[in-house]
Amino acid sequence: MIVDRQGRRFRNLRISLTAACNYACTYCVPDGKRLVAAQDELSARDLAQGVAYLIEAAGIERLRITGGEPLVSPRLEPFLQEIGSLGLQEISLTTNGQLLESKLPMLLDAGIRRLNVSLDSLDPLGFRQIARGGDLQSVLSGLQLAQEAGLQVKINMVPLRGQNLDQVLPMLDFCLERGFELRFIELMRMGHLARDGRSFQQQFVGLAELLELIAQHHEFIQTDAPVDATALRYRIGDRGVFGVIANESVPFCRTCSRLRLSSTGWLHGCLSSSNRHYIGDLVTRPRHEALPALQRLLVSALADKQELVFAGGVTVMKLIGG
Ligand code: SAM
Repeated sequence: MIVDRQGRRFRNLRISLTAACNYACTYCVPDGKRLVAAQDELSARDLAQGVAYLIEAAGIERLRITGGEPLVSPRLEPFLQEIGSLGLQEISLTTNGQLLESKLPMLLDAGIRRLNVSLDSLDPLGFRQIARGGDLQSVLSGLQLAQEAGLQVKINMVPLRGQNLDQVLPMLDFCLERGFELRFIELMRMGHLARDGRSFQQQFVGLAELLELIAQHHEFIQTDAPVDATALRYRIGDRGVFGVIANESVPFCRTCSRLRLSSTGWLHGCLSSSNRHYIGDLVTRPRHEALPALQRLLVSALADKQELVFAGGVTVMKLIGG
């Protein structure tokens, strides 16, 4: 097992299945242009082989499939078939939910039981202004079906000053009523926001302000979360729980166990580092050749992690998956 001097190791793998997305969210894509798949994305089989080797070489236990938007990728179904037998403790998926209605049967067949659905507003106009694609009603219909099918659903919302702060309480009520755990994600200095500090500061809403806003309407207490969890969790009596991923206000670098693999075969040990390590060539090599080479790359990837604080990174989220 590869462990660093802070005792960190890779346990959770996030794989970006494609860079393509049917949204162009303001905080992810600066120019609003819809994203397309990269030319050199690996096949479903090669990505799955990468996952298999990473399980062995790094001790990966949980896999989250993300993007881009994973549900737009024709490789999702074959990929899920390939990884189903790898013995992972958990396979989950992060999606904007736009195609959830039509893809749900396939996800259920593949054994997916946990979904994170990104939703930044319940106001149709506000939704369009942030996502710059899709429509709210499709997401809501998908969410209802997912709930009826018994999936465990978390909702991701990025609170943005001047755009959706008025949605924090409606979103919380919406989630509490339906048994979805709402996760507020503090805006991260990624991609264009890492280069444009002013725009970041203008939009950023931190943990303290968020909790103050919620406290005006709900009583809550902090509750437990796994040691390597990214979210702080709060319980509102018997109504439910919400979380805040506060990487600016309360950085979680010290216990980070995440490793990321891009659709083009690059490993990223840290969102905050622009270092990356290519494994696209290793996934076609036999195990006895691939594993030692992969282990050397994993040592470097682990060394890329920040010690304490997330400092931002110029890498764009859609390429390495949020
Ligand atoms: N398309 C999928 C979706 O919308 O969930 C998966 C990819 S998206 C990059 C994953 C998550 O990253 C989303 O919840 C999105 O809100 C979040 N995200 C993207 N850029 C971000 C940023 N700069 N700061 C905080 N969260 C961000």
